[in-house]
Order: sequence, then C-alpha cells, then structure tokens
Amino acid sequence: MAASDEFETELDASREQVERPLWRLFRAYTPDHAPWLAVGLLTSVLAYGTVLVTPIVLGTTIDAVFTRESAYALPLVPDAWLPSEQETQFWFSTAVVAAALLGGAVLQWVRGVAINYFAHGVMYAIRVDAYEKMQRLDMTFFDNKETGEVMSILNNDTSNLETFFDNALGDSVRIGVIVVGVTTALLYTNRQLALVTLGAVPLLVGFTWWFARVIEPRYTRHRETVGDLNTRIENSLGGIELVKTTSTEAYETDRVRRVSRDVFDANMDVLKLSYFYRPGMELVTGAALLATFVLGGLWVFSGPPLFFSGELTTGEFVVFMLLTQRLTGPMAQLSNIVAWYENALASAKRICGLMDVPVRIEDAPNPVALEDVDGRIEYDDVTFAYESGETVLDGVDIEAAPGETVAIVGPTGAGKSTVAKLLPRLYDVSEPRGPDGPSRERSESDGVTGGAVRVDGHDVRDVRLADLRSTIGYVSQDTYLFDGTVAENIRYGQFDADREDVVAAAEAAEAHGFVQTLSEGYDTRVGERGVKLSGGQRQRIAIARTVLQDPDILLLDEATSAVDTETEYLIQRSLDRLAADRTTLVIAHRLSTVKNADTIVVLDDGEVVERGTHEDLLAADGLYANLWGVQAGEIESLPEEFLARAAESAAER
Ligand code: ADP
Repeated sequence: MAASDEFETELDASREQVERPLWRLFRAYTPDHAPWLAVGLLTSVLAYGTVLVTPIVLGTTIDAVFTRESAYALPLVPDAWLPSEQETQFWFSTAVVAAALLGGAVLQWVRGVAINYFAHGVMYAIRVDAYEKMQRLDMTFFDNKETGEVMSILNNDTSNLETFFDNALGDSVRIGVIVVGVTTALLYTNRQLALVTLGAVPLLVGFTWWFARVIEPRYTRHRETVGDLNTRIENSLGGIELVKTTSTEAYETDRVRRVSRDVFDANMDVLKLSYFYRPGMELVTGAALLATFVLGGLWVFSGPPLFFSGELTTGEFVVFMLLTQRLTGPMAQLSNIVAWYENALASAKRICGLMDVPVRIEDAPNPVALEDVDGRIEYDDVTFAYESGETVLDGVDIEAAPGETVAIVGPTGAGKSTVAKLLPRLYDVSEPRGPDGPSRERSESDGVTGGAVRVDGHDVRDVRLADLRSTIGYVSQDTYLFDGTVAENIRYGQFDADREDVVAAAEAAEAHGFVQTLSEGYDTRVGERGVKLSGGQRQRIAIARTVLQDPDILLLDEATSAVDTETEYLIQRSLDRLAADRTTLVIAHRLSTVKNADTIVVLDDGEVVERGTHEDLLAADGLYANLWGVQAGEIESLPEEFLARAAESAAER
C-alpha cells in the first residue's frame, strides 16, 4: 500500500487503537506453549551460566597450583569434595572445565530446540488465527484492496515476530545471565577492581540507548521503502501482459530501479550507523579491559595502586581479564535486541490491528436455522449505499414466489449486481449491529441503508449465515477457479461428492464434452485462477459447481464477457435447466436471456422503474422497450436523457 493511503482504511484505523500489542500477543499465545518457553528459559540460564565456569576455575587453579598464592577452592563446590594434592587439583580443574564445556553444549542444544518450538509454535497459531479472522471480514474490507496489506501481515509481520521470539528472547536471557554472572563473579573476586571494569557497563548501556534512538527512524524508513518496492513489483507483475503488449519493459524497469535505489539508500543509512556502533562498543569495552589490565597488573606487581587497598593474586587478575572479555560480545548484541524489539512491536501492532477489525456480517445472537426451504424471496423497501458512497438502491421492492424466475435488468450501474449481493449477505442493508442486536431502525441522519431482504419470510440478518449461503447458489460474473484439477473445482464446497456426481454435474452444465477433450480429463489442472481454460469453459465449470450444490435458490449474475454464440447457447441451456425448479434471481446484462422470466424488474439509477412480463413491458413502451429495441437492433440508440445520465454517472465514478 502506498504511504499516501495511510489512515484511510479500516485496517489503519483499527491499528491506531491497538495498545501494548506485543504484550497482548504474548499473553494470549504463550499459555499453550508455556512448557517450551519454560524449558527454553531455564536451559538458557544454565547454558550461559556455564560460560562463567572456565575463567573462574582457571583463575583459581593458577593461584592454588602454580603461584600458590591461595588455597584451592571453587565457588559452589564444597571443600570436602576437592582434592588436596596439587597435580590432582590440576586434573580436577581440567575435568570441571571439560564438563562445563560439554554440559554447556548440550544445554545450548536443548535451549535452541525449546525456544524454536516455542517461537514457531506461537507464530503458527497467530498466522492461522489471523487468516481465519481475515476470512470472516466482510466485502467492504476487501473492496478497499487491503489484500496486499493482509498478505504482508500474514507473511512478513509474523516472520518479524518469529525472529523476535526466536532470537531476542534467547539473547536477552544470555545478556542478562552474563552481565549478572560476570558482575557477581567480579565483585566476589575483588570488589574494588570490579568497579573499574564494570564502569564500562553504564557507558555501554547509554551508548546503546542513544544508538537505538538514532537508528529507529532509519529502520522505519527502510521498512517503508521495502514495502513500496513490494507494491511496485506486485503491480508490475500483475500487469505483465499489459507491460509486454505495450513494450513498456524499460519503463517498468526504471520504476523498479528508482524504488530499489530508495531501498539501497535507506539500507545504507542504517548500515553506516551500525558500522559505527559496533567498533564504538568495542572501544569502550577495550578501554575497560585496558584499565583493568594496567591497574590489576600494577597491583599484582607492586601492591595496590592509587586509592586501592588489599591484595590481588595472579589468579584473580587472570579471572578479571577473562571475564571482562566475556562481557564484550553480548553487550554489542544489545542493539540487535533493540532493533528486533522495535520491529516486533510494529509487526505486533499490525497483527493486532487486523485481529481487531470489527466483523460486521456474522450470525445474530440466536440465528434462525433454515430447514426445508421453499425459496420465497422478498426485497422490502431496500435502500442501500456502499461505505461512504451515495445511495445505490432506493426503496427497491422485489418479490419472487417459490420456483419463480425474476429477472433484473437495467442500464450499467443501475444497481443490479448490488441487489444480488444483498441476498447472501455479501453486504448488509443495515448499519453494524450494536451489542443489543441488530440496529434495524433507519435514523434520520443516515437514510442510506434500510429495509429488509427476506428468505421464506426470515430477514436474512436473522438466519444462520451458513444455512443462508448453502441455500443460495451464486453464479457470479467473474467465475473464480482455484489452482487444482477440474474435478476439484467442481467439487469445491461439496467435498464428499464422488466422481459420478461430478461427471453428472458437468453433463448438466454442458461441460462434460470439453472436459473430456482436456489432456487429463477431470484431472487436468486448470492453472492459477483457471488461466488454462477459456472464459466460456470456466463459466461452465462454475455452473457445474452450482449444479452439484443443488441450492434451493439460484442467484445468477450473468456474465458480460463475450463468448461465441454456440458457447452462449450451451451456457444458456444449462442455466435454464439449473433454474427450472428453483427460485431464481437473474441479473441480466443481455435481455434476450430473460424473455421468459415470470417477472422482469427494470432498475434505473437504483430505483425500480417498471415491472412485468416481457410482453407487458414491451407494451408499456418505457425503458425496457427502449433497451430491448437497442439490443435487438431495432432502434439505434437510447433516448438522450438516459445517455446523458449514464455519462454523468460515469464521470462521477
Ligand atoms: P449494475 O450491476 O447494474 O451494473 P452495480 O450494482 O454493479 O450495477 O453498481 C451500482 C453502483 O454501485 C455503481 O455506481 C457502482 O459504481 C457502485 N458500486 C458497485 N460495487 C461497489 C463497491 N463494491 N463499492 C462501492 N461502490 C460500488
């Protein structure tokens, strides 16, 4: 999505309301994966604890075995367990260090597995939940073309969180354990010299804090440029046919080059600062190491320097040097953690934003179950507008008795398809429901939506949504096929239908003939969106799908796309067969197909202007008669007033 669209969509609005998103997701999803997290954290602490063993044991051993400055003693190990003879002490220390290294390796492995299971398990659950939620959103959400945005939430943002849970969690523990461990060990060994070494820590933390603040906007900018690049590429690829036929490859390459350049610049801005950070951190720790070396060295040589007092043994000195070095690496990773955190926070916000978009079309609190449907349809004084648009339907009344066929005709943009979409509740005539149930009242101020659509006398908003939609067979203008085989596409929605049913449905839909000529018959793959089939073939597969569904009510939004006469005849014949014994609402874009309808409703600019049978309407000599005349080639053009209005509404759009 382009940056200029910000805050214009529902998703943006919802995102703005989100509070403490990372914490919220963590709290919601951790309980199911808590054992992995617990094991992961515990082994992290232990694994990084073992890192401290080597320097401490080596230091102690030097003092006891080599310089003999103090007795052999190991922290946390009872003296009684320790050997008294010096060579044995040497080997004992070696064994302890070896055990620590080995134990550390095993713990690291367990830690990795546990944290991975936790992080990936949480993200798996979040991804599925977000997808499930997204599917329940109504068409208005998708009309705003937020699918690209949703894709990036389901892919990129969940990956960002994964990285955070995977790496940042483990690394924070590591840094925590090491800093606390090293600090304790240094203070325990020599409090005064420890203060010199640890003087670096506040400096390092402050430096990192500053760095995180400076780099944050650069990261944000980088993320934005990457988003723009994705959108650009998606757009170009989507129109690849147009690009080729207009020979605009160079133009497109140039556009991609420009956004790529932005990505490059933004990336370099981030990297330049990062290059500066790591050496900076190393300088500070290096200075601490050097100060410790100089002061500690003098101390061992010739007694306490400056204002220091007491004794420092060679072994203690070695412990200091080794431990201080252990501090550098983890501290330098602080900035990674900050970056991961910032990323994860932004992503969590986007995920929560999606999860919080209100679901407006869903089951009423106690929905009516539809059983033994007769198929009576009523549109009762229906007034409708799309979100923030002007009135598209105005006081429309339509009735279809069980088994009847009602055709809706009218000029393009009259609102015919909108009538169709209200029946299966792709849109609702009411405003969103309040907590007390449907808000059915038409208030003075809105006036844009109102009335009711009923099936068998039940308001569609009161009926169980799944019942409603399985009662209605919808053959829409743009037939969609999934990437899969012909049989899978026909069976879509009726997954337990067997091959015979599928073939019978295809026969009824006049599809069997061409399916047999395909290389693998019903097992031929149709390609993405069915690209390997012609428009007429796709339509017939969609009809076969509806034949198999065997709905009580049929909703036909007739295709406008041109097919050859023979195919049109086949399609029409199969549709007539399909419509024969069920209530049918046909949105007709070509009048020839609806001559035989029981009632023809003529819509113009959202209002019903005429209704009756074909003969009635011809006799009335109104809009229908005019449209009929134009299509039949009897008159050349529609009356001026219709053309003027069509041009006007086209200009508005
Ligand atoms: P018809 O099927 O008669 O050609 P439609 O019902 O498709 O007419 O459209 C009626 C009006 O509603 C048109 O002005 C169209 O631009 C508008 N419209 C249709 N679909 C949408 C939508 N999803 N969002 C906003 N406006 C829409």
